[in-house]
Amino acid sequence: MKNLTNITVLAIFISLTGCYEDDIIADSLVESPDEIQSYFKAFEEEALQRGLNYDVDSKNIYGEFADLPDNTVGQCSYSPDQPRKITLDQNYWNRASELEKEYLVFHELGHCYLEKLHNDNKNEFGACVSIMNSGTSDCRNIYNSRNRSEFIDELFDIK
Ligand SMILES: [Zn+2]
Repeated sequence: MKNLTNITVLAIFISLTGCYEDDIIADSLVESPDEIQSYFKAFEEEALQRGLNYDVDSKNIYGEFADLPDNTVGQCSYSPDQPRKITLDQNYWNRASELEKEYLVFHELGHCYLEKLHNDNKNEFGACVSIMNSGTSDCRNIYNSRNRSEFIDELFDIK
């Protein structure tokens, strides 16, 4: 969920080392693992149920598993005109529930597809109001089968 520093780093990296661009573009031809793609599909389906036509492929986004540093479970990296990459921590993924996986992928798509920043607002009970919470604020993150629909409405800016 830590993302912004990574965006900057990638942008600088590309501008300084043009020869790496080919590698990065070639990466975009690699299919995302099915396990990640099924959550991309779920994101599109949730959008469609709300009358929105989202197409993750149209923004050249792909997903991959990796070993991320401590306390980071997901990351969205992009710079203009480059493929956008969602990296998910393999260890976290292996022990995450369905809902936790959905939450994580939707959060990263919030960055990579919807181009949203973090939102650490909380309600009067101290609970986070957005999937886009940073995970480092003091709001309590409660995402479950009863309230997920509300969170997804918020993510998609549906009032
Ligand atoms: Zn984030």
